[in-house]
Amino acid sequence: MESGSLRKYSNFSEWYDYVVEAADIIDKRYPVKGMLVWKPYGYKALKLSMRILENLLEEYGHEEAYFPMLVPEEVFAKEKDFLEGFSGETFVVERTIRKVLMRKFLLRPTSETVMYYMFSLWIQSYKDLPIKLFQTVNVFRYETEHTRPILRVREIIMFNEAHTAHESLEDANKQIKEAIEIYKKFFDSLGLSYLILKTPKWDTFAGAEYNFDFFEIMPDKRAIELGSVINLGQKFAKAFDIKYQKRDGSYEYVYQTCYGVSERVIGVLISVHGDDRGIIFPAHIAPIQVIIIPIPYKGSEEAVFKKCDDILLKLKQNGIRARIDKTENTPGEKYYYWELRGVPVRVEIGPRDVRNNTVTLVRRDTLKRMVVKDEELLPKLNELFKEIFDNLKKKSWEWLNQNIHTASSVEEAKEIYREKQGIIKVPWCGRDECGQKIEEATELEGLGHDPEEKAEGACVICGKEAKWYFYIGKKY
Ligand SMILES: [Zn+2]
Repeated sequence: MESGSLRKYSNFSEWYDYVVEAADIIDKRYPVKGMLVWKPYGYKALKLSMRILENLLEEYGHEEAYFPMLVPEEVFAKEKDFLEGFSGETFVVERTIRKVLMRKFLLRPTSETVMYYMFSLWIQSYKDLPIKLFQTVNVFRYETEHTRPILRVREIIMFNEAHTAHESLEDANKQIKEAIEIYKKFFDSLGLSYLILKTPKWDTFAGAEYNFDFFEIMPDKRAIELGSVINLGQKFAKAFDIKYQKRDGSYEYVYQTCYGVSERVIGVLISVHGDDRGIIFPAHIAPIQVIIIPIPYKGSEEAVFKKCDDILLKLKQNGIRARIDKTENTPGEKYYYWELRGVPVRVEIGPRDVRNNTVTLVRRDTLKRMVVKDEELLPKLNELFKEIFDNLKKKSWEWLNQNIHTASSVEEAKEIYREKQGIIKVPWCGRDECGQKIEEATELEGLGHDPEEKAEGACVICGKEAKWYFYIGKKY
C-alpha cells in the first residue's frame, strides 16, 4: 500500500490489516490460521498495557498465580452449560506423534474448570475466603468465523482472567462491582471509551448467573467487546463441590465470580486512537515514546549527531523510552515510518537547533510543530504526553457518544441503522421474549441493557411501559 492511501474510516478493514503488520505489531505469516507472531514492538505495547491491569488487580487485593494449560476431559465436563458452551471451540489433545494417550486433554479456552478443581481442594472453611486470584496466560479457541489479527484469533496470547470465591451472594455481587470499577480504571488509563451493559439472558456466559460486558465502537461502527465481568453464582461450586464450613458449623457452596480481558484491547486501542497515518500510542504504553530524527546538512553532520546523542542520553536518564533514527532514509521517510508506528513525540534536530540550543518537537496526534529551548525539553515532553493522552481520550468518548442513537420503534431503529450504523437503543419492557423479538425484527444483535439507566416510553414490541433501553447493533 502507498503512503497516503490509508483511510481509517472509509476503509477500516484494509487500514487495520495494513497497520498492524506495517507497524511491526504482529506478523500473520505463521502457517496456523488465527495464531499470530507478536513482534517486539507490538509485544512491548501489549505488556506495558497488561501491566497496568495487573497492578490494578493487585491494588484491589488479587494475587497472581499460574494454572496448567491442559484440562482432563472429565474435569472440563463437570459443569454442563460450560461444556455445551465451549464444546465447539475447544481443542483436544489425544495423542503424541507415536501413540494415543490413555485419556483426553483439552486446551484451556478459559480456566474456570482448571482453577475450580483446585479451589475444591483449597477451600474448607470461611477462613479460606475470599479467594481473589488472577493469571495472564494464553488460551485457545477454535473460532469458526473469519479470524482477524488480534481481534478474533485462535490463540489468545494474553488472557488476563481473574477468579474469585466468596461466602455469600452479597459478597459476590460486591465483587462484580469492584471488577467493574477495576476495568473502568483500566480502560480509562488507556484513554478508551466504553459502554457497560448487562448481557441478555439468552447470551449469558456458559455456566453463569449473569454478566456485564464492556463495549467500544470500532471505526467501522460495529460494537466490540473489551472485557467481561461474570457472576457465576453457585453453579461451578456445585459442579466442583466447592464447599466451606460456615461460622455456625454448617456447610455451604461458595459464590464465585470471574472476569477477563485480552490482547484484543490493543487491537481496539490501535483502531480507535489511530488516524490515516497509522497508530497513535498514548505515551505510557508506547514502546518508543520519543524518536529523535537528525536533520544534518553538509558540514554540520558531526555537531547534529552529537546533539542527538546527548539528547538521547538525557531522555534515557530521565526514564523516557527514546531512540535515534540513524538510518540512511530521508527525513520525510523517517517521519512517515515513525508516524505509522504511533510514536507520540518526534524530536527533530538540525544545524539551527545546534546553534540556538533548541530542539524541534512534533506531536503525533495533531502533527503540531514547536521549537523549545534545550532546558525546556523534559517538562515540555511531559506536558505533551499528557495533552496527547487527554486528546485521544476525549476523541474516543466523542466517537462512542456520537455513534449511539435512540429509536422509539422497530421501524425507526432499522432506518437509523441503515443510515448511521453504530449502536441503537430502544425502550424495552425487560422481558426476554420482547428482547429476542427486537433482535429478530431489526436483524441486529442484542448487546444488553444498562440497569442504572431508566428508559422513557413504551416497549417497542409489546407497548408496555419500558423499564430499560435495549442496546442493539452488530458485534465483532
Ligand atoms: Zn415488551
